Amino acid sequence: MTDITTRLAQARREIAIAARRAGREPDSVRLVAVSKTHPAGAVETAAATGQRIFGENRVQEAREKIPACPPGLEWHLLGHLQKNKVRQALSLFSFFHSIDSQALAGAIDRIAGETGQKVDGLLEVNVSGEETKHGFTPAQVRAAFPALAALPHLRILGLMTMAPYSENPEAARPVFRALRALRDELECAHGAALPELSMGMSGDFEPAIEEGATLVRLGSSIFGQRPQIQAGAE
Ligand SMILES: *Cc1c(COP(=O)(O)O)cnc(C)c1O
Repeated sequence: MTDITTRLAQARREIAIAARRAGREPDSVRLVAVSKTHPAGAVETAAATGQRIFGENRVQEAREKIPACPPGLEWHLLGHLQKNKVRQALSLFSFFHSIDSQALAGAIDRIAGETGQKVDGLLEVNVSGEETKHGFTPAQVRAAFPALAALPHLRILGLMTMAPYSENPEAARPVFRALRALRDELECAHGAALPELSMGMSGDFEPAIEEGATLVRLGSSIFGQRPQIQAGAE
């Protein structure tokens, strides 16, 4: 077994244990294997174990990598997307985790309308308030939600966040709890269905699952460390 195969199996076990600990079904949590900076061969190895969902954060990198990967995989965009790359992104990705402004949502909706697509995505919320992070503030999401939910070609399925980096996974728990509370509030206030919560990365996916994550985004714990310069790149 390769390292990737072993680490994927380990991650799936840990996800299942965290889900059961929270009284959830393990298959209520989907694993996004974050392959950014890693070659198509790494994706192929992971896909051979049955992994189907892969995440990338840069359109340019994805455009080169995806055609070299096995067919039939589901590609998710995780990073900040510039409006001038929306058209390309729509041809590569089926799911957008990080819709971080009303202008971007509008651009995705408009171009999806032109190409006859119906796009699924999540609103990225900067729960922690860190200045370096993209995303709506909770107040901005509350204000913009009715307009966003009404876009005809973009279907908002939930919320996404990134917790501040910490050595201690428990430090992220209040951020995850707050994202879930915001989701519950929006569902209640607008009668919306927002089933998806994308939260939790290699260092903090266990508290994220306990707090309700339906999508966890694991990169380094599956594929190994990335070159430092790429960590958190857009
Ligand atoms: C890179 C990245 C991840 C994966 O991070 P790891 O710590 O390697 O698991 C998850 N989410 C986003 C948005 C990322 O950019």
